[in-house]
Amino acid sequence: MAKKAADGSARDGDAVSVSRRGFLGRGAAAGVGAVAMATVAPGEAEAQARWARTADVVIIGAGVSGLPAAITARDNGASVIVIDANYDIGGRGILSGGRLHIGGGHALQQKLNVKDTPDQVFNDWVRHDHADSRYSDRELVRVFADENVPTYDFLIENGVKMIEKLVGPEQSSTVPRTFLSVEWENPAEVIAPKRQRNGSGIVRALAASARKKGATILLKHRMTKLIRERQGSGRIIGIEVSSEGKTFNIRARKGVIIATGGHTGNVDFRRMFDPRLTEEYQQACQPWVAQDASGELAAMDHGAALWSTANQTTETAAAITKTRHIGCQWGYSSLVYEPESPMFKFARATGLTVKDWQNVVMVNDRGKRFWNELSGNYDFFAAAMAWNGDPQKLNGGGPIWAIFDADAAVREKWNTAPPNVDPAGYFFAADTIAELAGKIKNPYQKRPISGDVLAESITRYNGFVDAGKDADFNRPKPLHKIAKPPFYAAWSTPILHDALSGLRTNRNSEVIDIRGKVIEGLYCAGEAQGGFSQHGLARCLAFGRVAGRHAAKRAVA
Ligand SMILES: Cc1cc2nc3c(=O)[nH]c(=O)nc-3n(C[C@H](O)[C@H](O)[C@H](O)COP(=O)(O)OP(=O)(O)OC[C@H]3O[C@@H](n4cnc5c(N)ncnc54)[C@H](O)[C@@H]3O)c2cc1C
Repeated sequence: MAKKAADGSARDGDAVSVSRRGFLGRGAAAGVGAVAMATVAPGEAEAQARWARTADVVIIGAGVSGLPAAITARDNGASVIVIDANYDIGGRGILSGGRLHIGGGHALQQKLNVKDTPDQVFNDWVRHDHADSRYSDRELVRVFADENVPTYDFLIENGVKMIEKLVGPEQSSTVPRTFLSVEWENPAEVIAPKRQRNGSGIVRALAASARKKGATILLKHRMTKLIRERQGSGRIIGIEVSSEGKTFNIRARKGVIIATGGHTGNVDFRRMFDPRLTEEYQQACQPWVAQDASGELAAMDHGAALWSTANQTTETAAAITKTRHIGCQWGYSSLVYEPESPMFKFARATGLTVKDWQNVVMVNDRGKRFWNELSGNYDFFAAAMAWNGDPQKLNGGGPIWAIFDADAAVREKWNTAPPNVDPAGYFFAADTIAELAGKIKNPYQKRPISGDVLAESITRYNGFVDAGKDADFNRPKPLHKIAKPPFYAAWSTPILHDALSGLRTNRNSEVIDIRGKVIEGLYCAGEAQGGFSQHGLARCLAFGRVAGRHAAKRAVA
């Protein structure tokens, strides 16, 4: 018989998935048929083999949307199992700067004399004159607006601490609505310590609260598939999970919540929105979280629709970023893994932080300049991703390399040795420019750069310094020649960030299929959810709560 755990979830037996026929055969032989029969509800037998665990609400992802979903479901009386593929909780949230775009007139806004209302939040996020808001689903924005104050209260009630200071207005907001959470107090539990990862204070506090309230969190458990009842409503009744070489099923009596965090690390998936986004574009929070679209794909296997796909490709450049730390594989603007980070062994280098782009020239994978290096607007990214004349590579622009010399390293105070740079494919040095070109070898650099072409690019640029004018790309006042050896080439390919489109949901966070019908028992929140282009934490927290609440209250026959 299934054993009840303290959290109300049930642990039903060993974790081996088999077909129904195979299970019944083996179960009878092993004398555990009674367990199996007790755990297979009428109507579900065809859909699954055996449930290793059961809870009312099963949540996939212990990150920014999954944790509030878990707490809210528990607060509403449901038993809860959260699984996460990673070895620790937090998702991208633990790496985030903790800049929370939340308002509506909450207690901290009142304390700091900011006048705000849910209606004002709504108005700001449906502005037609702003690409951050133009393409969003107003039904979802309305829910978000109304959930701002309750979400702020929820965070405080569940142990999140906020810095009492105004930041912003940012994004579409017309009033200061950005607040910083306090970083988690234990640096050993901050995945990128020394880098102001204030989001750690949100997810660590929420995980502690979720556990205290009785949610079970299973780490190193990856959802591989959703399980759907084949009879009756066809509702989602559980998930298939893989953990440490075993595959088993977890049953959800009321609902499954996808909180898996988006798709930007999945090349095929992201190219549905923009075919230019080929494999060379890295994803901001790797190697910590893959953002592999597994949640979206599992739901799409059951006919789920995507929503507000225009948000993913808006030319505000919300989803693609200039590298700020060059010479390493992942040089996203605010994130660096210091040697103290548990991720450092995977990241391999911290990168050289660029203070002044006047100190480098950027070339594409054919060794040619492509845009004004000082720019960071969408035109820069479009030029970086443009076809560069290579008949073998029609999509994507290929790697981008920052070229600089010994004098630039002195001006920037760069130490060009490891662990600052990654000589295993992301940083090269040589005594001549032509020799440097020959050294550039990287998995994404499909053809060698011609030494003559790179030398010609640098000679031409040096001429612009003499002339005081960049005749090719109008870089304002080119300042420094690249002339003193050694010469360097550092990886500086634009890096991907937000998933701003994902699964279609209704106001309750229930997933909708391509024919516009609710997929019963399936919910989605966070970056895997489409329909609202807001960057980051706030929408994930708000819709996590919405999904957790609705799933917990679901009446199931
Ligand atoms: C460097 C950085 C800085 C940021 N700074 C800010 C900021 O200052 N302000 C802001 O608002 N936003 C910021 N963000 C964005 C914010 O962190 C994300 O929007 C937010 O974490 C997304 O929440 P989520 O729940 O959708 O995904 P996540 O928080 O990433 O959680 C998803 C979880 O799902 C798990 N998972 C995925 N697939 C599976 C599977 N198949 N089975 C089991 N588990 C799975 C993952 O391991 C992960 O733990 C930042 C992001 C980064 C990377």
